Amino acid sequence: MRAREAILIRAASAGLGLALLVGCSGAGSDSAAGTGLSPSGSPSSSPPAPTPSPTTSATPPVGPTGPARVAVDVDAVVATIRTLSERIGPREATSAAYREAATLAADRLDDLGYRVRRQSLQVPAGVSWGVPVRAGRTHNVIAEPVGFEPSEPHLVVGAHLDTVPQAPGAEDNGSGVAVLLEAARIVAQAPPAVPVVFIAFGAEEPRGDGDDRHHYGSRAYVADLSSAVRAALIGMISLDRVGVGSRVPICTGGRSPRTVADRLARVAQRLDIPVRRCFDNRSSDHWSFERAGLTAARIGSTPYPEYHSAEDRIGVVELRQLARVARLLTETLRTWPAG
Ligand SMILES: [Zn+2]
Repeated sequence: MRAREAILIRAASAGLGLALLVGCSGAGSDSAAGTGLSPSGSPSSSPPAPTPSPTTSATPPVGPTGPARVAVDVDAVVATIRTLSERIGPREATSAAYREAATLAADRLDDLGYRVRRQSLQVPAGVSWGVPVRAGRTHNVIAEPVGFEPSEPHLVVGAHLDTVPQAPGAEDNGSGVAVLLEAARIVAQAPPAVPVVFIAFGAEEPRGDGDDRHHYGSRAYVADLSSAVRAALIGMISLDRVGVGSRVPICTGGRSPRTVADRLARVAQRLDIPVRRCFDNRSSDHWSFERAGLTAARIGSTPYPEYHSAEDRIGVVELRQLARVARLLTETLRTWPAG
C-alpha cells in the first residue's frame, strides 16, 4: 500500500479490501460489499481527481509539504471498530472490558514504536445515561514518539475509549479510537514536522450532569500539564463519533482560538471533503482543553438514532465517512508546518 496512485485497491475477494491514499480527492472508491456496514457507507465509484496545487491565497498555505503520504487502510479502521464493539463490547470506564480495550490500544501503540504510559485516575459513582455506575479507577493511554520532548511544540490527538454502560460503542467511540490508531500508524511510518501525542482517554462519558461529571480522563491530562508543556501544546484534536454522516463536523466549544479548526477546514477544502463547522460543541474531550485556555477542536458529532444504545453496532458506521476523517486528520498532521 505504498505506491503513489491516487487510490489503491487491494484484493477485494475476501471482504472489504480498500485502501485510500491520503490526500487524494473525492470520497474514495471501491465496493463495501461484505463489510456489514450500512448501505450509505458504500463508497461511490467516481474516478479519482488529481491532487490540487498549493493555494496562493492570503491564508497560511497548507501545501503538499512534509513527509511522504501513506495510504489510509480503511480495512484496519473497520477491523478495530469490530474488535471494540463486537469482541469487547460495552466498556464503561471502570470495567474489565475497558481495561481490555486499553490494553489493546496500548499494545498497538507500543508495537508502532511509541513510548506508551498510562495515567491513572479515580472517578466517582454516578449515573451514566440512566445507568448507575460505581466509583473506581480508570486510566488514559498516552503514546509519545520516541525522543519526544514535551516542552517542544507538539500536537495532541485524542479519542475517548470508554462507552456508556449499555452501548457497544461502534460509533461512540470505536470510530474515533480506530481512526486514532490508524493515524498513529501513519505518523509512525512517516513522522511529520510537528510531533504528535496520541491519547486514548478514559471516562469521557457522563457520570451525572454538568461539565464536572464528564470528560474525567482529558481533564486529568490537562490538569497534569506544566506551564512549559501547556505553552508548547499547539493544539488538540478530539476524535469523537467520526463514522456517521456525509459531512465531517469540525467544531470548537466557542472558547478556543480557531487555529486548529480552521486548519482542518482548509485541508478539507483542498481534499474536497465536505465539512460542517460549529462553535458551540462542548460534549467531548476538546472542551477540557478549551476550558483550560488551550487550543482545541473536535472532529465528529453527527447525530444518529443508535446513540448511547445497545444498537450502536458496526452497521452504524459508514466506510466513506471513516475514510474522509482518516484522510483529513492524517493529511492535516502530515502538512502541519514546523515553527
Ligand atoms: Zn463520545
